[in-house]
Amino acid sequence: MRLERDVKLTFDDVLIRPKRSTLISRSDVNLEREFGFRHSKQKWKGIPIVAANMDTTGLFSIAKILQRYKMITCMQKFYSTKDFEQAWEDVDPNFAAVTCGTTENSFDLLERKMATNENIKMICIDVANGYREVFLEYVKRVRNNFPEKILIAGNVATREMTEALILAGADIVKVGIGPGSVCTTRKVAGVGYPQLSAIAECADGAHGLNGHVMADGGCSSPGDVAKAFAAGADFVMIGGMLSGHDECAGDLIFEDDNPTPVGMKFYGMASETAMEKHGNLIKNEYRGSEGKTVTVPYRGAVKPTVVDILSGVRSACTYVGASNLKQLSKCTT
Ligand code: 5GP
Repeated sequence: MRLERDVKLTFDDVLIRPKRSTLISRSDVNLEREFGFRHSKQKWKGIPIVAANMDTTGLFSIAKILQRYKMITCMQKFYSTKDFEQAWEDVDPNFAAVTCGTTENSFDLLERKMATNENIKMICIDVANGYREVFLEYVKRVRNNFPEKILIAGNVATREMTEALILAGADIVKVGIGPGSVCTTRKVAGVGYPQLSAIAECADGAHGLNGHVMADGGCSSPGDVAKAFAAGADFVMIGGMLSGHDECAGDLIFEDDNPTPVGMKFYGMASETAMEKHGNLIKNEYRGSEGKTVTVPYRGAVKPTVVDILSGVRSACTYVGASNLKQLSKCTT
């Protein structure tokens, strides 16, 4: 075994140091960014915070709210083509990514979903372990078939695989192995990488190639989202922070006769709950769960939570003197 001796950090290990600044208030801060991408040559403009493609959050109901703030929703991959056809009446394709897995079946489904609206800009290829060679081949195949679409691919947590994915055709690499709020990979497999360092290292690799990164997992407060951007993330994906709201899917928990729910179920996409729901609970010796099911507090409408997140990131920018999100990482110590 080889040990890496340099310090690796996660969100809780750091704080952003305040600095003198000329900004007067949070309203001076612009959180919108405009990106151009290495492969697709597309432009995208908006606030680069993204709802995770989980059963409970990657939903059209969430997208309808987030798109008002120009934020993206990566749709959970179990929607049917028909669901997509019906959704476009209310959902803006600029802010909705179609998610797919890597099986043969997934590719056909992806093609059908993409055909439901020619204005869909983004495809998210999501696997738990982005380190397999076959994954690179799949990314190349999707890139060849959709040369003009913004391709998000992951997850990985280290520089060399970020670079490999960008060279294979990804515009945005999704970064995060094990940090998710309902992820148990670090416990089950002992595998992971401290998320703040993963973001900084992968961003450095990606930006050198004119690629981008999406930090995925481990943000449990608006301050963590700010730290992810400060570390160099171009996009930040959140799951747990959006859970427990009216717009989410998940069983509500009631107490006694109280008609107001006290909690909501939230589960990992590799949990037994997810496997049971999607009919792939295979109890054999090769496949176990790498996610858990939790009850999160019920929090009503998602809009105030979104406003809180944006306000937190704006506040971070004011503390370090960044008048826009792009400057946040440059201004951060
Ligand atoms: P959160 O924002 O809740 O901390 O993290 C969300 C991310 O956790 C998702 O976007 C996804 O990458 C990851 N995730 C979701 N479900 C599971 C799971 O069951 N197992 C693992 N290992 N990761 C998961």
